Amino acid sequence: MISEQLTEIYQLLLNHFGPQHWWPGDTQFEIITGAILTQNTSWANVEKAIANLKSAHLLTPEALHHLDTPQVAELIRPAGYFNVKAKRLKSFVDWLFEKHDGRLANLEIIDTEQLRAELLAVKGIGRETADSILLYAFGRSVFVVDAYTARITVRHELIDPDADYEQLRGLFQSNLPDDVQLFNEFHALLVKLGKEFCRPNPKCQVCPLEQLPHCLEQDYS
Ligand code: SF4
Repeated sequence: MISEQLTEIYQLLLNHFGPQHWWPGDTQFEIITGAILTQNTSWANVEKAIANLKSAHLLTPEALHHLDTPQVAELIRPAGYFNVKAKRLKSFVDWLFEKHDGRLANLEIIDTEQLRAELLAVKGIGRETADSILLYAFGRSVFVVDAYTARITVRHELIDPDADYEQLRGLFQSNLPDDVQLFNEFHALLVKLGKEFCRPNPKCQVCPLEQLPHCLEQDYS
């Protein structure tokens, strides 16, 4: 049963790595900002960009709404792809002001599927970012999928290599209890596993999932 395999993977990872305490961030808006900035860069670089915004007292929707995109880009420069990411951050904030009076609290009452659809309609917000915002900033039970999730589940033959984002998300959401804390921890543990062991060249012999069947010791990126 897939649900039992996923539960076993989760337990092995939690036993090995311990709780990951995701998502780092003092406020809901800091978590959202981190989710938008983290694409294609290391978390250390995101932290530098967030520190810039914080030290300038600009890490709020109101403050960013009053800046123009080049000003935002300069502040988040350490995050890489800063011009593109500044546009995305501004798009999110502008949407928040245009549709929801600039208040994150107004998003709390929106049904998860509707909020997901609205986030995906914001220019530059893709599925992984939208789902990270839903799960980690708003505590909604949405499983976040990324390249590590795909690599690990394919190597363990839990899903077809051609599976798309929604099929991967469905794999977890259909086979696990609808539990925000479980989704929070499981995604963080898969990221840790992908970074430390399940790399393009896998380190199966020393991996916490080494004992599981159907593990393919082959290159897959
Ligand atoms: S490194 Fe090997 S054992 Fe570990 S998750 Fe990847 S495929 Fe599985």
